[in-house]
Amino acid sequence: CGIVGVLGNHEVAPILVEALKRLEYRGYDSAGIATVNGGALDRRRAVGKLVNLSDKLVHEPLAGKAGIGHTRWATHGGPSEGNAHPHRAGPVAVVHNGIVENFRELRGELAEAGIGFETETDTETVALLTHHHMQQGMAPVEAAYKTIDRLEGAFALAFLFDGQDDLIVAARKGSPLAIGHGDGEMFVGSDAIALAPLTDRITYLEEGDRAVVTRQGVEIRDANGSLANRAVRQIQIDA
Ligand code: GLU
Repeated sequence: CGIVGVLGNHEVAPILVEALKRLEYRGYDSAGIATVNGGALDRRRAVGKLVNLSDKLVHEPLAGKAGIGHTRWATHGGPSEGNAHPHRAGPVAVVHNGIVENFRELRGELAEAGIGFETETDTETVALLTHHHMQQGMAPVEAAYKTIDRLEGAFALAFLFDGQDDLIVAARKGSPLAIGHGDGEMFVGSDAIALAPLTDRITYLEEGDRAVVTRQGVEIRDANGSLANRAVRQIQIDA
């Protein structure tokens, strides 16, 4: 129900949890984060309040300066740790707001390709399809964009990849998503409130947009794949 992403210069796990707290007002049944620290990404998830996730992180910390986080309001698959986001398939982790309406069709295709499922969620198909594209030789961004092109429904998405400390792929269709501009840091959030303590410079993705976010900035493309110019706004929120 809420998405955050950080490409920062500090340990990112506490920053992600803090940003998720600012999205609590939307309601949620579980939460999780994934970070990448040079090599393979790793994730922690917990059912219930965010304090359950922070407690878990005390005992099983996550290192890294790049990460994504999620508060989930289950639509497909009950509220369980296994169904909580981020969903992972091979080298990719995904957080998702909304519903992938054609997930049954996508599941069918994946099953035909011999790919199995670990969850009951619509979201898992996004991670599996992206992994599948990478196995066919596509680079992370290309693989994610090809997946996004296949998705029907309303969604906001953020992707994180193994070995990619300076990359988040983001997309929006139907659900809002904001990109936050820092100084040598970049952020992704469901809204400007989530990012308020981190930055007040916000770019709202428009319908169908997808974005490659690095610490240098963001490259946004519209639904047709053409480069898109989206304004950076100065937002006033009491943090
Ligand atoms: N449809 C997804 C799920 O049930 C995402 C729900 C949400 O927006 O939190 O896992």
